[in-house]
Amino acid sequence: MATNSDCLFCKIASGAIPVTRLFEDEQLLAFPDINPQAPVHVLIIPKQHVGSLAHTTANEAGLLGHLLASGAEVAQQQGLVKGYRLVINTGHDGGQTVDHLHLHLLGGRHMTWPPG
Ligand code: AMP
Ligand code: ZN
Repeated sequence: MATNSDCLFCKIASGAIPVTRLFEDEQLLAFPDINPQAPVHVLIIPKQHVGSLAHTTANEAGLLGHLLASGAEVAQQQGLVKGYRLVINTGHDGGQTVDHLHLHLLGGRHMTWPPG
């Protein structure tokens, strides 16, 4: 599996940096965000290194579909029956700060629009 030894989320995926593993399968890992922006704030990442959504192609359609479906599954696991938000910050203007693709699951409060 492709990993990047300098990448924070690759270190989390490999277990080199320990986290609470909320959900895991062969392809994906979910863990709590260290700086939560809502009562529930979970990050879901592919275990393989993918720099961002902008680094994906149709070849990753299966992985991306699985990522989104897992977002819904973790939301259910977290009891977010009133709703939630899934976000993929992409690139500089998208507010991405960790260069390893991740899906934010935010819930447990009412979300506003537009986002900041
Ligand atoms: P983004 O700004 O979309 O790239 O999101 C990166 C997220 O990673 C931020 O919400 C950070 O709070 C979160 N984060 C950074 N370091 C860690 C860590 N060691 N464990 C869990 N979450 C982290
Ligand atoms: Zn990585």
